[in-house]
Amino acid sequence: MPAQDYYEILGVSSSATDEEIKKAYRKLAMKYHPDKNPGDKAAEEKFKEISTAYEVLSDPEKRRAYDQRGQAGLDDLGFQGFTDTSDIFSHFGDIFADLFGPRFHQEQVGPRRGADLRVDLSITFLEAALGAEKQIQVPRAETCLSCGGTGAKAGTVPQTCPQCNGTGLLSRQAQRQGGFFSISTPCPTCRGAGQIIAEPCLTCRGEGTVAQTRRLAVKIPAGVDEGAMLRLKGEGEAGAKGGPAGDLFVVIHIQPHPIFERQGNDILAKARVNFTTAALGGEIKVPTIRGSAILKIPRGTQSDQVFRLAGQGIKPASGKAGDQLVRVMITVPKTLTTRQEELLKELARLKVE
Ligand SMILES: [Zn+2]
Ligand SMILES: [Zn+2]
Repeated sequence: MPAQDYYEILGVSSSATDEEIKKAYRKLAMKYHPDKNPGDKAAEEKFKEISTAYEVLSDPEKRRAYDQRGQAGLDDLGFQGFTDTSDIFSHFGDIFADLFGPRFHQEQVGPRRGADLRVDLSITFLEAALGAEKQIQVPRAETCLSCGGTGAKAGTVPQTCPQCNGTGLLSRQAQRQGGFFSISTPCPTCRGAGQIIAEPCLTCRGEGTVAQTRRLAVKIPAGVDEGAMLRLKGEGEAGAKGGPAGDLFVVIHIQPHPIFERQGNDILAKARVNFTTAALGGEIKVPTIRGSAILKIPRGTQSDQVFRLAGQGIKPASGKAGDQLVRVMITVPKTLTTRQEELLKELARLKVE
């Protein structure tokens, strides 16, 4: 083995305590753990390197030999370092059990549910009010069709791991603080998978899933609120080893409308009414979310008065339909014809209140 600075590899000083060394190794082991870097040869080499450094520095006898005589001191002890990650797992089982906890095992063994995904979707005010169907693009991991998700090459099947009999775990007795405990560690042969794939699927390289961008239709219910989360069950990432797919959450963002505002299921709009219609009464055309409607203006209508068009608001799938509320603004002409001016002057002389 070439001479290496094990302190430098773990990023600790030569006076580091056992605790500091352990902490540094845990941190690096989390980062370079093969389960976190599947298929990454460089990470695997790094993992062996830090594990070798930890093995030397965590053992008082090896550390003393290394401090005094460097690599030669270790050679005299017959220390070889790690050449295989499975050696590391069987050697440092305790620290990995501590590191990853029981979750590590649960995640690795047996069917695993796919991850949930989130997509943000911006829709118009009217789409939110009336409901709509929108197309979205979702990049996600899907079950590989070539191998059906097993990761094994077509015509082959994954074999049950002979070392752990498919459980993905190895139990052994360990002594701690004077007592014996049974400790389960990931099986080094199958890395906790419980299965061994002799010939990986060429399409997915043994992953069982492939990246796909999928076009999906999303049904937007009428009256959806800003920030609402629509759940599309099973449209998230594919599960592993026959596990169910995750869900897709579509988060709704509603663009404002130049005319309409929402108050629950009611729609609020403003409309102009000229001063003669307001005084004498009449009809005006007002926009609604479904087109336009005729609004009766009673005689003597005042500015800011609000009228209600019953049932013309949002019609949710369940519950009562909303109304359209129309707030009127009385308008006054900016220019007048001679005839109009005469009439208004006459009206003014009558001192109308
Ligand atoms: Zn495949
Ligand atoms: Zn195994």
